[in-house]
Amino acid sequence: MTTLLDEMKALIALKGPITVERYMELSLAHPEFGYYMNRDPFGATGDFTTSPEISQMFGELIGLWAAEVWSSMGAPNPVRLVELGPGRGTLMSDALRAARIVPEFRAALDVWLMETSPTLAAMQHELLLDAGVAVAWAQSLKEVPEGPAIVIGNEFLDALPVRQFVRVNGQWRERMVRLNDEDGLAFDVASAPEIYIRANAREGEVLEVNPAGHRFMFELGGRLVKQGGVALLIDYGHAVTGLGDTLQALRAHRYVDPLAMPGECDLTAHVDFAAMARSAAATGAAVYGPIDQGDFLRAIGIDLRTKALAERAGPDRAEELHRARNRLVGKGKGEMGALFKAIALANRRLPTPPGFHPVAARPA
Ligand code: SAH
Repeated sequence: MTTLLDEMKALIALKGPITVERYMELSLAHPEFGYYMNRDPFGATGDFTTSPEISQMFGELIGLWAAEVWSSMGAPNPVRLVELGPGRGTLMSDALRAARIVPEFRAALDVWLMETSPTLAAMQHELLLDAGVAVAWAQSLKEVPEGPAIVIGNEFLDALPVRQFVRVNGQWRERMVRLNDEDGLAFDVASAPEIYIRANAREGEVLEVNPAGHRFMFELGGRLVKQGGVALLIDYGHAVTGLGDTLQALRAHRYVDPLAMPGECDLTAHVDFAAMARSAAATGAAVYGPIDQGDFLRAIGIDLRTKALAERAGPDRAEELHRARNRLVGKGKGEMGALFKAIALANRRLPTPPGFHPVAARPA
């Protein structure tokens, strides 16, 4: 049986080493063997778990957040509600259910799911069949019809392929993937230096750039500025641009060698929120955050919601709700409240999105 590893080895043997960016892109999105293309990676039996899979409260709170944003936009009808990389569709399903308390919002919704994986799109379809709201799929933001939009994405940016550069003898060289002597893959650096990168660093340091992320922020910010709307992106990453290799592979909830099993494990890189914010701001959109996921969820009411649900539940379920709340909000080891961050983009005519702090006005 051919695997992605075989294909990559053949490609490298034929054409020479490939960039880390290309390696990550093939690993995740190869049409036949890409990681997301033919599996359900989430949950206890999968490779990793995400906030919407940990608790229904995550999607519910984001659904209510979206309803409030919609009303601050002047209640446009229709409004595009777009989710980026929806996974199993859990977040959207919980969001639409919670939004039942704002029927006018639900009635105005035109839901679009931006998803590259046919397997996951099929799961989303099944889960949302009886959501009571029309749902359509797109491969890119361009396919979503014009008009005001509310865009949400959890763990979308971290799945976009990054380029890595390594400091070697006082120069930056692109990190590559080559064949090793044992019929496997190994990291290497390109023979020519990248003379346009200005940053200084110690020998061996790694610099990461997310070109697809930047392109996406330009496209998203540009759309919100022209057509109106707000976006919420939640991911794990750092608030301040820094150096370091953050490429990581997860299989069955354990870290594995990112080169060992391409297409068989999840491959991600931490999101450089400062860099993403710079590209978004360059479009003229207002950018809020990044703020810690824990602070965001508390600001939009996770404590009240935990309490309300726990009061109606039996003791076991109440205990489970509190545990889930702590995992999403807590800032200790193994908790997601500080590791994950939220950023919002908005058209400048709109007020500060719920949960975020106002930012000083910048000239348009
Ligand atoms: N938001 C979900 C899933 C996160 S995993 C959750 O929180 O559980 C990343 C998701 O993004 C998957 O659904 C994957 O198939 C999708 N994806 C990855 N790259 C993409 C791209 N370039 N365009 C659209 N979707 C993409």
